Amino acid sequence: MLSIGQVGWIEKEIPEIGPYDALCRPIALAPCTSDIHTVYSGAIGDRHNMILGHEAVGEVVKVGNLVKDFKVNDKVLVSAITPDWNSLAAQESYAMHSGGMLGGWKFSNFKDGVFAEYFHVNDADGNLAHLPEGMDLGAACMISDMVPTGFCGVELADINFGDNVAVIGIGPVGLMAVAAAAIRGAANIYAVGSRQNCIELAKEFGATEIINYKQGDIVSQILEKTNGQGVDRVVVAGGNNDTFEQAIKILKPGGKIGNVNYLGEGDYIKIPRVEWGCGMGHKQIVGGLMPGGRLRSEKLARLVQTGRIHPEKMITHVFHGLDKVEDALMLMKNKPKDLIKPLVLID
Ligand code: NDP
Ligand code: ZN
Repeated sequence: MLSIGQVGWIEKEIPEIGPYDALCRPIALAPCTSDIHTVYSGAIGDRHNMILGHEAVGEVVKVGNLVKDFKVNDKVLVSAITPDWNSLAAQESYAMHSGGMLGGWKFSNFKDGVFAEYFHVNDADGNLAHLPEGMDLGAACMISDMVPTGFCGVELADINFGDNVAVIGIGPVGLMAVAAAAIRGAANIYAVGSRQNCIELAKEFGATEIINYKQGDIVSQILEKTNGQGVDRVVVAGGNNDTFEQAIKILKPGGKIGNVNYLGEGDYIKIPRVEWGCGMGHKQIVGGLMPGGRLRSEKLARLVQTGRIHPEKMITHVFHGLDKVEDALMLMKNKPKDLIKPLVLID
């Protein structure tokens, strides 16, 4: 990111590492919709000459002298969110906000990201995980961000078995939320989207009904399917600032909304007063940055290894070579109909 609205290539020094850090080179990379919000909406403010990217599988090139579990040549899963685990925020169970709100989101936000020949990983023992033997690199790369973020939406919405759930947005994040909701034992899963390939995968991952937001208001469609009752839980993984209005309207009293959508524009979101029970409806909204970290990556990798989730099915475009990152990023910007997620392999 050269500045808001502008991307290009830049030469930088190889990052220095501290005693707990690692230096890695990428083996697989993926651009994220968040990179697009950051560059083209200027959503987190101006950034100059910042290397983008936070989704990677890597190989360790160098480690600090206090790193215990990783060594040079290890292949690693890299978490998109890399908190300071030795922080007061971590002790409060909000490590993702260590160093200030969203502070655990360092790559392509507070420091250079992973779209480079080398990238720096803070707190390597806490933020890297060993790449399981034989794991598909596409699946492994999705463990950086798409899988943990989709699952985070389900955790935030606190989905329990038997719940009726709406997942608004079935891009790669929402698709992983559908898969997570199914694992949590949701009953009906209403998946909101329009792209055909996403719809097909949503069904495969556990959606019981598809709601096409381009073919009518999602509120009336979901209320009709639930006999006017609404759903117990909503995961917001797409849409815009008006989506909260819809989410409140389809939510039962006592229900919860888990938002993982990165709101890139505007100053306010609207909460409808009456449907929010005039302030007394017990309808909760929780928005969260996914937690990140090694344990989460290891646990999600187990779900891949045991065949419980198939994030590699979301990879629709594969590129080879670091110089192709720009093409992959542009796909993410333009979102052609056949795209779910691009992957760049660094051979
Ligand atoms: P995509 O753009 O691929 O998917 C967005 C989804 O929302 C699509 O299914 C799209 O439908 C749907 N959608 C778009 N407009 C509407 C609307 N008006 N009403 C209902 N649905 C709509 O995004 P990703 O899956 O890549 O990412 C989702 C969000 O998660 C992004 O904002 C991203 O930045 C954020 N994110 C958040 C993280 C966190 O830690 N909280 C981490 C990573 C990402 P269609 O089928 O028509 O395309
Ligand atoms: Zn991301």
